[in-house]
Order: sequence, then C-alpha cells, then structure tokens
Amino acid sequence: MEEKQRARQLIEILHQTYPDAGTTLNAVSAWELLVGAILASQCTDERVNKITPHLFAAYPTLAETAAADLTDIEEIIRSCGIYRNKAKAIKGSAQIILEEHGGQLPRTREQLLELPGVGRKIANLILGDAFGGQAVVVDTHCARISRLLGLTAEKDPVKIERDLEAVLPPDSYTDWGHFMVFHGRSICKARCRDCTACPLLELCAYGSQQDLAAKEAGDCV
Ligand code: SF4
Repeated sequence: MEEKQRARQLIEILHQTYPDAGTTLNAVSAWELLVGAILASQCTDERVNKITPHLFAAYPTLAETAAADLTDIEEIIRSCGIYRNKAKAIKGSAQIILEEHGGQLPRTREQLLELPGVGRKIANLILGDAFGGQAVVVDTHCARISRLLGLTAEKDPVKIERDLEAVLPPDSYTDWGHFMVFHGRSICKARCRDCTACPLLELCAYGSQQDLAAKEAGDCV
C-alpha cells in the first residue's frame, strides 16, 4: 500500500479510537500552555496540572512573572523536578515576551525557539495547540510508535518530524502528536505493547510482522 494512503488510514482509525485526543495540560492561554509545557519536561502532565494553579494565582500576569523573585517561583514548582532551570526559563520567557514581543507570545517557531527552556517540541506544541497551526510534536511516544508503524526509521526528532510531514496529511500534523501520546499511554506502551488489542495492527509495520503467539502473549520488555 502506498505510504500516504496507509498514513490516511492510520489517521482515520486513530480519530475513531481517540476522538478527544488533545493536550492534557490545563491552560486557558498561550502563556499558560507555554509554562505548562516547560514544567512538563521530565514530569507528568498530571503533576504539572496540580502546580500551575498555584503558580498562576501567585503571578497572574506576565509582568508579575517577569518581576517575580526566582526563589519564590522555585518554591512553587519544586515538586516537578529540575525546578531551578524551569523557574529561570519561566521568568526569562516572561521578560523576553514583555520586552521584545509587546506582551504577546510570538507566533513563529524561530521566535519561540529563542525563549529560554523552549525547544522544538514545545515550540511545535504552542504553534499547534495555542495558535491552531499544524506542527508535529515529536516526543518519546511519537518517536517510538511512528518507528514501530514504519513511518520513519530515524531517531533524531527533527528527522522524524520531516519523515512524518512527508507522509501525513498536512491538516493532521498536530493531531498526530496527540494520537501518539494517547496510543502510547493506552495500548502501545513503551514496556508492553498490546498488539492483539491494537486497532492499528494490520497497518503497523511492526505488529503485522509478529507471529500470533507473540502477539497474544503481549510484547513486553
Ligand atoms: S500493532 Fe503493536 S507495535 Fe503496532 S502500534 Fe499497535 S501496539 Fe504498537
């Protein structure tokens, strides 16, 4: 089957399987989503969602965040790990957004990447989920499952993103990242893939090559 056609079929099934797939970070603005994404590095979205209400209650505006005492931010976000770097990134981003972008989050990937603590994954998340654009967020779920599906053989996130953009319909780039997270949490788990229960099995390069006994036993490492 032609790769783009296979990708379209995968998307169709994923849409049916995960109709509500989307970011699991709670945020009411682009700024809140950016802060949540910075905090989510090496931390669960669930924990981040417990921390951010306290942070935004203490610093409701960009100006208050930019002027905040770094140690006060650190204290609030301490439980999400690497909190010193994250506090610097949050305060530094608020300062740059205020001073260089008139208080509005920039809308290009290049400008977003200039904010401290913002890499390509976060920049793409903001472009897709805050600004309604199309960008593939390549996190560990997306990289691993896209490889298993046979849509890429790469390990480098930028190369994976390029491979995915070449086969996915352009209006599904943002959804793809969400689908991969939902699928990676429910069926195609890192340590134990449940290929027999997977709706993508017949279209999956990895799953369709495994023998039935192995699939039924579950593919656990
Ligand atoms: S068939 Fe198996 S390897 Fe392929 S996506 Fe489904 S669970 Fe993952």
